[in-house]
Amino acid sequence: MTVSYWQQAHREQSTAYDVVVVGGGIVGCSTAYWLGRSRPSLRVAVVEARTLGGGASGRNAGFVLQGTSADYLTDVKRYGERTARRLWHFTRTNRDLLASELRGSAFGWKADGGLQVAGDHEEEHRLQESVSSLRAAGAPVVYLESEKVNNRVSATGLGGGIFVTTGAVVNPLELVRYLAHESGADLRTHQPVTQIRWDRNGASLRTPDLELWGRQLVLSVGPALPSLLPSVSGVVRSVRAQMLATAPADTSSIPVPVYSHEGGFYVRQLPDGTLLAGGGRHQHRAAEETDTDRTTPAVQATIERYLHSYYPWTQSLPVRQRWSGTMGFSPDGRPVVGPVPEHPDSVFATGFTGHGMGYGFRMGRLLAQRIGGSTRPDGYDLFAASRFTEDKDRPRRGRASRGETSRTHPDPEESKSQSSKLR
Ligand SMILES: Cc1cc2nc3c(=O)[nH]c(=O)nc-3n(C[C@H](O)[C@H](O)[C@H](O)COP(=O)(O)OP(=O)(O)OC[C@H]3O[C@@H](n4cnc5c(N)ncnc54)[C@H](O)[C@@H]3O)c2cc1C
Repeated sequence: MTVSYWQQAHREQSTAYDVVVVGGGIVGCSTAYWLGRSRPSLRVAVVEARTLGGGASGRNAGFVLQGTSADYLTDVKRYGERTARRLWHFTRTNRDLLASELRGSAFGWKADGGLQVAGDHEEEHRLQESVSSLRAAGAPVVYLESEKVNNRVSATGLGGGIFVTTGAVVNPLELVRYLAHESGADLRTHQPVTQIRWDRNGASLRTPDLELWGRQLVLSVGPALPSLLPSVSGVVRSVRAQMLATAPADTSSIPVPVYSHEGGFYVRQLPDGTLLAGGGRHQHRAAEETDTDRTTPAVQATIERYLHSYYPWTQSLPVRQRWSGTMGFSPDGRPVVGPVPEHPDSVFATGFTGHGMGYGFRMGRLLAQRIGGSTRPDGYDLFAASRFTEDKDRPRRGRASRGETSRTHPDPEESKSQSSKLR
C-alpha cells in the first residue's frame, strides 16, 4: 500500500518527541509525571515493552521505605555521616512528595508507620545503636524492644527494632498507572525498544511496530539497561525477588509493614486481611542472580517457613498467589544515574537495589530537572555513575579519612566489573 504525503507528515509528527522515556516503571512514569508538571508544552512519550508497571514496579510489596538497602549505621560506615544523612533525606523527601503532591486514595496510600526489625542479636544491637544517629539526622524513629515488636504485629520470635513513624505503603501498580496517566505523556505500551540509534540531535528508536524519534531520552528500564546501553553494563545486574499472597485472614493482626532480617523478609497485611510476604533471597543468593521471572519451590518454601514460624497463626492460611520480579542491583547498593555516553543530553537511571519505591518519585523529579538542563540537580552527586570510574582513577589517599566511601564495593558479593566508559 502507498503512503500519502499527508499520512507521512502525520506519521512523522506523531512519532517525534522532545523526550522519550523508555521503561514504564516507577522511575520512568515519575519522570514523565514531573516533566508534565514542570514543562507541560513538551511532547513526551513513555515507551514500555509490556504493560505499565509490567516490571518490578508492578510486582513489589509497595513498601515506601526510607533509607537505603542497608541499615543506617552501615551506611554511615560505608559513606560517612553526611552522605548517609543525605541519602536518608532523599528517601524521606520521596515519601513526603508522594503524600503532598498526589491523591493517595488513587493508589492505596497508607502512612501509619513501619517497622524495621532485627533477625538476630547482632542486628538488634546495630538497630538500637542507630537510633541516636537517625534522630540526630531528623528521622522520626523510636526503638522498640522485642516484646513490644511482637505484640504490635502478632508475631513471635522477632527481635527488637525501629519504628519509623513516617513509614508508608502503597499499591505500587496503581501508583505507576496513576503517574503515567497524570503525566499527559503518550503511553506506548507493548512496545519493546529493540534498537536505539544515537546522533548529535537525539536518537531514533525502533520497536517491532514503531519507529520513534526523541530529542532526549530517559532510559529507565531497570535491569535491562545493558541491552540498550552496553557501554554502561557494569553498573547494574539483574536479581530476582519472590513474593506470595495468602487467603485473607479473619483478623487484622499486622497493622504496619514489617521489614526484618536486614531486609531479607518483609510482610504486610492488606485491609481485606490478605497477607503479602516476600524475601528469602539471602538464603538462595546464587539462584536468585538471574533475569528469569519465575518462582522457585525453594525460595517460596523459605518465605512460607518465615511466615509460619514468626506468625504461627498464618499456618492455616492457604497461599493464593506466588510471583517474582527482576530488579536492577548496583555494585554499591545506591541507585545509578548518568548521562548516556553516546548522547550526554540523555540520561539513564537504574540500580535501585530493591528499594525503587523508596526513591522513584523523587528520582523522577531529579531526572526531569536533568533533562531540563540542570547538570547537577540537588542529590545528583549521591547517585552519579561517575563515582565508579572516578573512584578507580582517583588516588587512594584521603578518601577513608574524609569519612566518604572508602570501599566502592562494600559487599564483595555485590561487586561486579565496572564500566570504564562512564563520564
Ligand atoms: C517481589 C519484589 C518486591 C519488592 N518490594 C519492594 C518494596 O516493597 N519497596 C521498594 O522500594 N522496592 C521493592 N522492590 C524493588 C522495586 O520494585 C524496584 O526497585 C523498582 O520497581 C525499580 O523501578 P524501575 O522503574 O527502575 O524498574 P522497573 O519497574 O523494572 O521498570 C522498568 C521497565 O522497563 C521496561 N523495559 C525493559 N526493557 C525495555 C525495552 N527494551 N523497551 C521498553 N521497555 C523496556 C520493563 O518492562 C519495565 O516495565 C521489590 C521488587 C520485587 C521484584
